[in-house]
Amino acid sequence: MTDDPAALLAYDRDHLWHPYSSALTAGVPYLVESASGIRLRLRDSDGGHHEVIDAMSSWWCAIHGYAVPALDAAARAQLGAMSHVMFGGLTHEPAIALGRRLVELTPAGLEQVFFADSGSVSVEVAMKMALQYHLAGGDRRTRFFTVRGGYHGDTFSPMSVTDPVSGMHSLFRGVLPEHVFAPRPPAGLDRGPDDPEMAAWERETRALYAAHADDIAAVIVEPVLQGAGGMHIWSPYAVSVLHALAREHGALVIHDEIATGFHRTGPLWGADHGAAIGVDLTPDILCVGKALTGGYLTLAAVLCTREVALGVSRGEAGGLMHGPTFMANPLACAIAVASLDLLRDNDAAAQVRRLHAGLTVGLAAARGIPAVLEVRTLGAVGVIQLREPVRVPEVTAAAIARGVWVRPFRDLVYTMPPYVTGDDDLERLCAGLVGAVGDVHG
Ligand SMILES: *Cc1c(COP(=O)(O)O)cnc(C)c1O
Repeated sequence: MTDDPAALLAYDRDHLWHPYSSALTAGVPYLVESASGIRLRLRDSDGGHHEVIDAMSSWWCAIHGYAVPALDAAARAQLGAMSHVMFGGLTHEPAIALGRRLVELTPAGLEQVFFADSGSVSVEVAMKMALQYHLAGGDRRTRFFTVRGGYHGDTFSPMSVTDPVSGMHSLFRGVLPEHVFAPRPPAGLDRGPDDPEMAAWERETRALYAAHADDIAAVIVEPVLQGAGGMHIWSPYAVSVLHALAREHGALVIHDEIATGFHRTGPLWGADHGAAIGVDLTPDILCVGKALTGGYLTLAAVLCTREVALGVSRGEAGGLMHGPTFMANPLACAIAVASLDLLRDNDAAAQVRRLHAGLTVGLAAARGIPAVLEVRTLGAVGVIQLREPVRVPEVTAAAIARGVWVRPFRDLVYTMPPYVTGDDDLERLCAGLVGAVGDVHG
């Protein structure tokens, strides 16, 4: 199939959209022939072969790497039974097994599971749940409260709570609902109430909330790490301030852990960082996705408390008004169960601690490059932030020449490696990123 990469890439250029792409000035993607372990085998438009370490885990999903024997086996076994059936009026063991696992893995109180077909749809459903919950209680609240710098997906409701500047608010003005945005919380996991910047943020956020309190259905945030909104690390204390505001004013709390879930920031959930300062950050509604299937298929889930589930159900609609065609796809659910087994059997928390140590040491050298503003790490996330926009095609090519696949954005060259990345490969990965930044921006 890939005998003639140039012809395939030419067809791709003329006919296929890529994420955020233009039909006028199509960038030239690399052709992936196969992937196994943590490596992708690529062809470029000149026919050249490259074997590269995937520093992106395919947008943070492929936490166990590729062609994973246990996940392949789960997929084959499920194909033998059924790959898909509708979820209206029917159910099946893969969905039940996965639902049970998610209820067990998430904080006590989150008991009811909605399976969605992508992260964005799960955020849609979470927001709809919050609106329906208040409506059923006779309270027509229509707005959401969040912080600047977030990212919650590309469909309209998630877009409406994504950062208004880096998101697409001006483009879709008049179509997107206008929600309430507090300033971005100050950077740093350890910022507490005694920090002056934090105190200022808290004052401003409380005042803004108070001005809209009766209208706010829910607070929605990505606990302690804003991902696609800028790889911004913030503190569990700031999360706790938002929880307190929601509780004081009768709003719900939605956590979007699509990026932060399953140990990416260290503990199982981003909200578990609350334990370090002695606060319980259990939300009313929780979205998970991305790594849920180990990157094999698209699947997300929304968990909510019994109170929210019953509240929604008492409303005049008579139920939660959502039901995607591919809801609870059995193949995806079966693979997700196998992926959660692997997380446990591989001791993902220990894997991430090891990766954190390796990233912290391996990326430190980037601080010596004058164009680098900051290097930061959290869990299995490593970020090199530049003082200027990244020259993306050049940095990508330089990293490939050094054996690494990376996809920078804005001023960020970052990695979220697969958890199974070994120490030697992690060293190569870090050296490749630092080298590529130095080659292009040095
Ligand atoms: C990726 C992401 C989404 C959207 O998920 P899709 O599967 O791309 O629709 C939502 N929220 C966060 C925090 C994400 O990282």
